Amino acid sequence: MKNQELISKMTLEEKASLCSGLDNWHLKGVKRLGIPSIMITDGPHGLRKQTESSAGVHDSVKATCFPTACTTASSWDVDLVKEVGVALGEECLQEEVSVVLGPGVNIKRSPLCGRNFEYFSEDPYLAGHMSAAFINGVQSQGIGTSLKHFACNSQEARRMTISAVIDERTLREIYLTAFEIAVKDSSPYTLMCSYNKINGVYSSENKHLLTEILRDEWGFDGIVMSDWGAVNVRPDGVDAGLDLEMPASGGINDKLIVKAVKDGSLDEAVLDKRVDDLLTLILKAEKNKKQFVYDIDAHDELVRKVARESSVLLKNDGILPLSSDEKILVVGALADKPRFQGAGSSHICPHKVTSILDDLKAKKIPFEYAPGYKGYNMASKKSDEALLNEAVELAKKYDKILIVSGLPDEYESEGFDRTTLSLPDTHNVLIDKITALGKKVVVDLNMGSPVTMPWIDKVNGVLVSYLGGQASGGAAVELLYGYDNPSGKLAETFPLALEDTPCYNYFPGDKFTVQHRESVYVGYRYYETAKKDVLFPFGYGLSYTSFEYSDLKIDKNEFASNEDVTFSVSVTNTGDRKGKEIVEVYVSPIDSKIDRPVKELKAFKKVELLPGETKSVTFTLGKRAFAYYDIDKNDWSVDKGEYDIIVAKNASDASLAARIAITDGNEENRRLKTDSWYNNVNGNEIPEEDFAELYAAPIPPKMSFPKKGEFTPDHCFDDMMPASWLARKVSSLAKFAIGKIMHVQKTDPSLLMMHETFLNSPLRSIPATSQGILSPNGIDGMLLIFNGHFFKGLGSVLKDIMAQGKVKKAEEKALKEAEAALEKEAAEKEKSDKK
Ligand code: BGC
Repeated sequence: MKNQELISKMTLEEKASLCSGLDNWHLKGVKRLGIPSIMITDGPHGLRKQTESSAGVHDSVKATCFPTACTTASSWDVDLVKEVGVALGEECLQEEVSVVLGPGVNIKRSPLCGRNFEYFSEDPYLAGHMSAAFINGVQSQGIGTSLKHFACNSQEARRMTISAVIDERTLREIYLTAFEIAVKDSSPYTLMCSYNKINGVYSSENKHLLTEILRDEWGFDGIVMSDWGAVNVRPDGVDAGLDLEMPASGGINDKLIVKAVKDGSLDEAVLDKRVDDLLTLILKAEKNKKQFVYDIDAHDELVRKVARESSVLLKNDGILPLSSDEKILVVGALADKPRFQGAGSSHICPHKVTSILDDLKAKKIPFEYAPGYKGYNMASKKSDEALLNEAVELAKKYDKILIVSGLPDEYESEGFDRTTLSLPDTHNVLIDKITALGKKVVVDLNMGSPVTMPWIDKVNGVLVSYLGGQASGGAAVELLYGYDNPSGKLAETFPLALEDTPCYNYFPGDKFTVQHRESVYVGYRYYETAKKDVLFPFGYGLSYTSFEYSDLKIDKNEFASNEDVTFSVSVTNTGDRKGKEIVEVYVSPIDSKIDRPVKELKAFKKVELLPGETKSVTFTLGKRAFAYYDIDKNDWSVDKGEYDIIVAKNASDASLAARIAITDGNEENRRLKTDSWYNNVNGNEIPEEDFAELYAAPIPPKMSFPKKGEFTPDHCFDDMMPASWLARKVSSLAKFAIGKIMHVQKTDPSLLMMHETFLNSPLRSIPATSQGILSPNGIDGMLLIFNGHFFKGLGSVLKDIMAQGKVKKAEEKALKEAEAALEKEAAEKEKSDKK
């Protein structure tokens, strides 16, 4: 049956009900019409399929754990990332999962965001192309993806309620561009909206975002689903373009949709459109199902290859590659038990894990091992003296020492942000003590985002392995010992200090709002424009060979703004090993008529070269490479004028450059009065009046915490805690209860994540998340309690719980009767049709 025919046969209740999940991981179907229920699960760097027997926080069916996005982005290799997508698609086929929830394409605004490990880059061009490649890979297998989290979810602090105060140009150029590239280049089956608000409007009911930009401008034709529990006022969401509420909400929000259609506040035609899109997804997913058995070993090999191609060599004074004949000392518990993935909803249960020690043994490379510090999940503040001393004593016997260090799960996870860029003190102390011996030291780092390296001048080599998936240990050995040549480059800047980061003063905001005062000057766009030194620039990475660029050729030097600019450059491997080089292309406007970063990445290519080999690499830049978002025209504009095309090894380099002129376009000066973003006089502080000029609308006033008596359904526990003893008490009880129910330890990041979610979800969402145990009347009762009318409120809550119990029973009965009647009617119709 065609969608329209199906829709015409559906009752209003059935249509509304299709717009929310059946449970945590399934969409609903409509049995009597043969519409099946399909399964969707996390992702994105592997499959987290939960079943009844594997439903715990850290439980899911065994799957390949691929490197996380921070890692794969550093490969700058779209074909490789596509290969990961294909393999993940195969695992979905085998496990009968129709949509995998990812990739995450949010911009790394601050290196502190707890979920940066799951995101690709600080640069939207790179992030967008990596996402598109991943999506194209997964979807080539007939499996859908869910591009997430749309949009501005660049922090975990108060992610459920925070409002990003951001000007339209910054939104478009930095925070939406990656989504735009992925939507246009790979047509994801689905997209997931974020929890947060943008300029005061929840993403889940943001028409500007979900309809005007996503569908009308970019032509998205898939479905938009909510992040888990991100729905605010459901009918408003339907109207704004949110097709699917996830997970199940016990029918609470479906009823609101029905009511809104009945009272005329929601047009049924809009609901029909949502149902149409959902049916397209469900029927396509069903058709694409097929039997498949994936090759576990081949996927493990792929993980190893991707991890090798993505690791970044940051320092090498010639110590690397190590020789397999020389016995070295390996120090660090992470060499034995690697941290190879991040914490939170993307947690994968891998088939197997290869550590550095495992691979050294497998390759029969001689080594001695000392843990040096306690296991990675014990982020103890104090060194374990016995372990430390043992490592230092052993180190005295060796010429070369490999120290494996990194961030523990407690330091970076979904659900909360980091508070420092430092490695655990215990690791820094260990590195200090061992380098003080005057021995040659190589550091290998396992982490999902930048760290500071106070010891950088004292060590001889640094390899960033990031979170390389289940075979990360093997990949590290193969690079450290020269089985392969490092070829990754940083997809983010490593700053010298947290204080240097562009949003240092404005991250993570003031609890209610987060102002994007740094504007488009995110990551290298800031460091390069403000001429600020960094530890390692965006795009930086070394190889065991060397490359030279020459012969930058552009046919002409004047172009119309709608003309493509094509050019080529020669790259030569000047060393004596085969290697891969990532050629980066930045566009730099000369005397720009609008405030702009001094350079922006607009193209890149990774090329493989034999020793002595030269290859010519060709690039084409379209209009968008020179454009900025013009808020007067609501479109992209190009300035008439000159531009440098820089072919570079990283954001701070300018190996080759050519100047071209664009002969048409805007000539009017549009610079703001301020030059705050350039002069670096105030460091990264942007005065309020400068932000006001950029924001071009009244800046939302600072909000203060509500007092007792002022709490409303829009508040969350975290809002009420400063003024309410009871809310504080409930918060600590909740933490205790979550730990008990989920069987997780106090230090487990998933406990912190769930507790944060509990504290920061607006009370209004409780009826849906409790699947109807409480109704909005019960929430009013709760509010009476917290507002100081304890007994009156308690009475209302208890009354509501009982009433809801009765309603549920009555509804279940009515639903069964209605279904039976509809099925009978359908059967009778079929009979009479046959006659
Ligand atoms: C996360 C999503 C994830 C979902 C389902 C949410 O809390 O933000 O990325 O897909 O949970 O686990």
